[in-house]
Amino acid sequence: EGLANQIAAGEVVERPASVVKELVENSIDAGSSKVIIKIEESGLKLIEVIDNGTGIEKADVSIALKRHATSKIKSKSDLFRIRTLGFRGEAIPSIASVSDFTLETSVKEENSGTKLSAQGGKIISIEPTLKREGTKIKVENLFFNTPARLKYIRSLQAELSHITDMINRLSLAHPEISFQLINNGNELLKTTGSGDLRQVIASIYGISQAKKMRSFHAEDLDFVVSGYVSLPELTRSNQNYITILVNGRYIKNFLLRRAILEGYGNRIMVGRYPLAVLSIQIDPQLTDVNVHPTKQEIRLSKEKELMALISKGITDTLSEGVL
Ligand code: ADP
Ligand code: MG
Repeated sequence: EGLANQIAAGEVVERPASVVKELVENSIDAGSSKVIIKIEESGLKLIEVIDNGTGIEKADVSIALKRHATSKIKSKSDLFRIRTLGFRGEAIPSIASVSDFTLETSVKEENSGTKLSAQGGKIISIEPTLKREGTKIKVENLFFNTPARLKYIRSLQAELSHITDMINRLSLAHPEISFQLINNGNELLKTTGSGDLRQVIASIYGISQAKKMRSFHAEDLDFVVSGYVSLPELTRSNQNYITILVNGRYIKNFLLRRAILEGYGNRIMVGRYPLAVLSIQIDPQLTDVNVHPTKQEIRLSKEKELMALISKGITDTLSEGVL
């Protein structure tokens, strides 16, 4: 079981940014309105995620460390109904198996909280602790017992930018949640949680950039797409500034990115990219998130229809007010 967790960890927790992603997604699934992420040395020394979500009941705390024990999938058809970000019950056991792991949590209905400590996946202690709001998870000395993994992490700077990208995307996906990211004591991002996507864009990319974006909306019978797109003047030299969300989840999809670029057509030069945040609502039946464990790749039905809706929508948005 310990080894199985470490093997699963190889798939789920490739690097510090994957740990941050899994922990923050759990905080989101727990209904948090505020999530604080503190890291040291780009997450290799410390990753701490503090939320104000529902917490975990005493009886369930040790179960969270068992692989698949918490899986929300009972049958194959459940795969198509998933609304939460996590569903495999794999992340916490995987992360705990390759770190010094501490979890403090409490739920409204219980008088005290629970604190669990584990090392390399072995539970060292579970004890009652002061009641707090939500959950605080501390991951220290990540990959201390998997030297090959550790060796593969070459640059702290690169790791930090993976983490920043991750938190940026999660903030864009959840304007209603306040995120704060702190690295070595420096605040790198803070969003208000006001629910206003343009404000999140301002926190990440700057107020003047956010002001220069046009709001986007297009829909048909199958899809609702909304968000913000930059005017053609505002271009970037890489595609990192294009964020596509499907049912609140960040995805990588080459075809949809191409549809955005097609919408700009020859208004932007080859090799330049717009800043865009598009949020797509789809009936979950038309998606299959189970393509890869990290769930960033998804398959969509009616992809052509969606591409046409996006590229035409962008062309229309850019033409508004232009004579
Ligand atoms: P999954 O998210 O796929 O269910 P995880 O291994 O990520 O599996 O988490 C296991 C379980 O632990 C979750 O299903 C949830 O019940 C609980 N959990 C983890 N993190 C939190 C959190 N921050 N707040 C509340 N519950 C949590
Ligand atoms: Mg999870």
